Amino acid sequence: MRIAVLKETSPGERRVALTPETARKLANLGAQVAVEAGAGDTAAVPDEDYRAAGVEVGPADQVVRGAGIVLAVQAPAVDRLKGVENGALVAAIFDPYQQAALVSDYAVAGLEAVAMDLMPRITRAQSMDVLSSQANLAGYKAVIAAADTFGRAFPMMMTAAGTIQAARVFVMGVGVAGLQAIATARRLGAQVSATDVRSATREQILSLGAKPVFVENVAGIEGEGVGGYAAEMGEEYRRAQAQLVSTHIAKQDIVITTALIPGRPAPRLVTDAQIASMKPGSVIYDLAVAQGGNVEGARADEVTERHGVKIIGYSNTAARLAADASALYARNVYNFLAAFWDKEQGRPVLDEEIGDAVRLTRGGAVVNGRERG
Ligand code: NAD
Repeated sequence: MRIAVLKETSPGERRVALTPETARKLANLGAQVAVEAGAGDTAAVPDEDYRAAGVEVGPADQVVRGAGIVLAVQAPAVDRLKGVENGALVAAIFDPYQQAALVSDYAVAGLEAVAMDLMPRITRAQSMDVLSSQANLAGYKAVIAAADTFGRAFPMMMTAAGTIQAARVFVMGVGVAGLQAIATARRLGAQVSATDVRSATREQILSLGAKPVFVENVAGIEGEGVGGYAAEMGEEYRRAQAQLVSTHIAKQDIVITTALIPGRPAPRLVTDAQIASMKPGSVIYDLAVAQGGNVEGARADEVTERHGVKIIGYSNTAARLAADASALYARNVYNFLAAFWDKEQGRPVLDEEIGDAVRLTRGGAVVNGRERG
């Protein structure tokens, strides 16, 4: 089995789907691994390190020729895959809800598209869950970037020249990214509060030493939500949440928003009027900007300023920690292949539960229930 890894081409994408560590492990499965020259440059993996791990390094067309498996961070355009085996498996982030045309290109090309971003949230798939591994790093980086943009300190400091107050940080959306954002802001010494629609997050917020801020008069989502995910909330809840946020946000220095709903645009959580109520010099980091944004006025890959408040809208935050993000992503993909590797066939044979969840196309057709639905 030949496994090919291409250099990522999306603007701002600095990650790579293979590290020397995972290349060695893939070779141990019996695979022959090839990577496009320079693919690891932006993630601090020089070509020599791949070569030292036994990887063939070469130009893209040579690397993909005869490959039965292609690994990528963001799914490559089909025209970059000329020369792969018939029906080759391509494992990558497909973002299928926003990229329906790409998915149908894969079907037409007869490729087997495997969306790592549709990995089900079951215990045995945790080590393959790219959304979690990348969101965790993004939550950390959002706080670090906000702290860097903020013209004040995070911790309380008592100095001979007087006292500096601790920064107030409000985290909206307490999934994987939000939990890491809370933990990071706490470590930097901020006073942290957080909110979510799922009631199960209240305990998690408290256990990280932060203050839960919840809508009390209208029911949110009891427990974890289906598959661990939130759903869109009704009008009554949205109004109650907006009111709660309005009273809370005016006192905050930093707001980190992470709220997402699978397959839907991100919920709007912060309005322009609420931004206007914040102190000048405050900073908002909108981690949901690529899905439409939680914050009014946030723009992808820009730092905008409204009413003296800076709004950071980097759309690919994990790529700003490219070395760690690549190491975790590459392990997720390796864990996925290794879990299903059939020694006799020398290729992965997916089972129904995970295979049906992640497979988008096969045999010339779109085969994913969620995607078709
Ligand atoms: P996500 O990225 O889909 O959403 C981020 C957060 O935004 C979620 O907590 C969601 O509830 C929240 N949110 C959505 N709409 C909101 C609104 N209107 N207002 C406020 N908050 C809103 O979620 P995620 O980070 O991927 O994780 C969600 C949960 O799934 C977590 O509890 C996580 O622990 C769990 N999880 C489980 C597994 C597993 O068991 N294998 C793997 C990953 C995550």
